[in-house]
Amino acid sequence: MVTITIQELTKRFSGSVVLSSVNLQVESGELFFLLGPSGCGKTTLLRHIAGFYRPDEGKIWFDDEDVTRLPAHKRGTGMMFQSYALWPHLNVAQNVAFGLEERKRPRKEIEHRVAEALDQVKLGGLGSRKIQQLSGGQQQRVALARALVIRPKCLLLDEPLSNLDAKLRLEMRGEIRGICKQHGLTGIYVTHDRDEALSMADRMAIMESGRLAQVGTPAEVYRNPATRMVAEFIGETNFVEGRALRESSREGFFDVETSFGFLRGRTDGTWQPAAGQPVVLSIRPESLTFSNLTDTSNRFPGHIVDTTYLGATVQYVLQVQNGPLMKVCEINPQEIRMPAADEIRAMAALNDVVILRK
Ligand code: ATP
Repeated sequence: MVTITIQELTKRFSGSVVLSSVNLQVESGELFFLLGPSGCGKTTLLRHIAGFYRPDEGKIWFDDEDVTRLPAHKRGTGMMFQSYALWPHLNVAQNVAFGLEERKRPRKEIEHRVAEALDQVKLGGLGSRKIQQLSGGQQQRVALARALVIRPKCLLLDEPLSNLDAKLRLEMRGEIRGICKQHGLTGIYVTHDRDEALSMADRMAIMESGRLAQVGTPAEVYRNPATRMVAEFIGETNFVEGRALRESSREGFFDVETSFGFLRGRTDGTWQPAAGQPVVLSIRPESLTFSNLTDTSNRFPGHIVDTTYLGATVQYVLQVQNGPLMKVCEINPQEIRMPAADEIRAMAALNDVVILRK
């Protein structure tokens, strides 16, 4: 277990800034995700933690040790990549043993620890198999065993599941998390798959252009996105442009004027919109419901222009009257509404309308 602290980390490649004054603390034993669009700097940040890159500015601490200039093999980190990077001419056990042989451990100890690591990833007894005789999922487990065998203080994972099919990916999510928790490992996991991050992370950072746009638990980031980019990246949402009016009669909620009337919502709690300030509202499809209620706020008319039935859910596209197209997702649908010109009313709870700076 180790606490990893990143202080004012900046990295430039050929003059262009790839990481810009990044500050982050990953707690001991935490499974932390770096999430963001392609090219935002996730892998570069992970490689600094691993020791493959030196920053131009800033420091990295493992507990109270400054490791900024410490070579990779002295950091006690286990690393797992998207391409498993296994040696095809070595068998499973030899692949797993590599890190221990590099460290010149005695033969008996190597045999014991390799067997232990293979058991951990459910490959016990397969040590003498050739790499080509394994499925993609099994190869991925070998890569995990190879990272674990050195008993790392932290596990660094760079898109480890992206070469696997959907079913295996789901299975491995639980296993990787289980192994990290069971061994008390601090884990840092890079992905651009939001479901992977939401389902596995203790906390996550959403990165944008070399900066951390937001850090929080999955629920914090999903429910309280700090920016438009974060709101969109972490899940489907509808954006509605508007202008803040004033604080509403309910404390903490604000009225926003839109092209189709007033909507009442909240911010993430860290700021308040000024009267007249242009804002954007984020309203997730599953928070919209069709409603016959009268006398409620955040209720507006439209008509359905598209219907997609998916069993557990049904997804609609609603043309809001005098407003935008909005996605509506009904869970456990009792009735399927087909596209029609008839007016229908949709509504969102005040808590589900998040006001973002424009
Ligand atoms: P992806 O999800 O596509 O893997 P990422 O968020 O991991 O993306 P990085 O691989 O960290 O992004 O790259 C960030 C930026 O730095 C990109 O613009 C990339 O082209 C650039 N970059 C990465 N490594 C190098 C390098 N060794 N030399 C020059 N530029 C690099």
